[in-house]
Amino acid sequence: MASAPFIDLVAPNGVKYAQPTGLFINNEFLLSADGSSVDSIDPATEEKIATVQAASVADVDNAVKAARKALKGPSWKLLSASDRGALLYKLADLIEENRELFATIDAWDNGKTYLEALENDLVEAVGVIRYYAGWADKVFGQTISTTHQKFAYTIRQPVGVVAQIIPWNYPLSMATWKLGPALACGNTVVLKTAEQTPLSILVLGTLVKKAGFPPGVVNFLNGLGNVTGSVLVSHPLVDKVAFTGSTATASAIMGAAAKTLKNISLETGGKSPLIVFEDAEMEQAVKWSHLGIMSNQGQICTATSRILVHERVYDEFLAKFLETTKSTSKVGNQWGKDTYQGPQVSKAQYQRVLDYVNIGKGEGATLAFGGEPLNINSNGKGLYVSPTVFTNVSPSMRIWQEEVFGPFVVISKFADEDQAVALANDTTYGLGAAVFTTNLERAHRVAAEIEAGMVWVNSSQDCDPRVPFGGVKQSGIGRELGEAGLEAYTQIKAIHVNMGNRL
Ligand code: ADP
Repeated sequence: MASAPFIDLVAPNGVKYAQPTGLFINNEFLLSADGSSVDSIDPATEEKIATVQAASVADVDNAVKAARKALKGPSWKLLSASDRGALLYKLADLIEENRELFATIDAWDNGKTYLEALENDLVEAVGVIRYYAGWADKVFGQTISTTHQKFAYTIRQPVGVVAQIIPWNYPLSMATWKLGPALACGNTVVLKTAEQTPLSILVLGTLVKKAGFPPGVVNFLNGLGNVTGSVLVSHPLVDKVAFTGSTATASAIMGAAAKTLKNISLETGGKSPLIVFEDAEMEQAVKWSHLGIMSNQGQICTATSRILVHERVYDEFLAKFLETTKSTSKVGNQWGKDTYQGPQVSKAQYQRVLDYVNIGKGEGATLAFGGEPLNINSNGKGLYVSPTVFTNVSPSMRIWQEEVFGPFVVISKFADEDQAVALANDTTYGLGAAVFTTNLERAHRVAAEIEAGMVWVNSSQDCDPRVPFGGVKQSGIGRELGEAGLEAYTQIKAIHVNMGNRL
């Protein structure tokens, strides 16, 4: 397979670097077997940044076989767990040394602000790899006494070749959430980048090689979901699929994985509620609820996109929320130091937000703020929308039930705690939830009652490598991060031992 070139790029913030454009297989960047490619677009200008190779059926097969070979290869299989951890520590150091470069690439490719990428995504990416580096040599089994002469013990072994499919909203950090625990536990990986944001992951490939991972342990493929992605998740030599993305795609992936009974873990959509009780600290509730839906252009699976406010404090909350949205949510390109909200990632996402504005209006909800495309550039290009707030929303409306994945929030009232919990749980999703109250007892009671994988008390969007992350209902299966995240990447083998022949 021929090598693919690196191209010299200069980002709008002046950062210069060599962008790999190939498929990263066996520590080499390769051309696609059938010449297919995907373009990466700057959503602030709608101009092409680079064209990268897209994996065909033959390339997917090549990558999976490379991962299979590496899984059995002595340089990975016989590497001690501590040495695996050392490789991960090295990778974390290399990412950290290049953090301005990675923040630049993800901002350019995705539209998120450079400062958000630098201060949030990069801190998380380095932190997650370091956290799992530490776990590599702390994954043990158990010894179990059975009878006088017999006992059993368990060992935790890697699942095998793992296909990982990541989304575009946090490109580098989503890759680290998947790579960290998989590699710590001794698996090998074929990771597919999101077609909208392949660039930072390919640069990560150069660091994987530099850190010293044996060829084939980590492989990165670019390509469309319904082409490269679906071929990868149905490949018979893939043992496990780990996916983050929409619930509809997760359902398709679960179907494809069913054919060979692959192990799966899924992190999918959400319509997470945020409840403001009448005794809440109002300034805190406004601050966190704004961040919970408007940060990262609202493109967060855990975004608290349904705000429920006690009727006694509703008017005060709404006035303050709208004031904060007006004064804080400055929309502009990724590079402005005072930009809060950049462009949406793609034309499809931009259009999706505007479509939901029309749906909300058609359903009779009140558009209290925004709901428009914004012309930030003089040439009319750029995928900008205004932050959008709907009120007078009822649970039968699509804008209450469906995930928009943009800076788009619905705000509604409740009369008492039972109604708040019922409204919060009136969704097919169950990813995050937030509760604002100064009543300690109520905080924990409601946290326990809400159907969600994660609850924030007097906060929103907290995320930490040490804390399990994931959803219930149609928001996912399994957990990432924390000690719980190791379970997705190990399988337990039980070994029964008979110690003697004397009965
Ligand atoms: P979005 O619609 O916002 O792009 P998706 O859930 O479709 O969200 O995409 C998340 C990831 O899943 C991307 O990497 C995408 O390429 C991939 N993907 C989409 N469809 C499939 C599929 N049928 N099989 C495997 N991966 C897919």
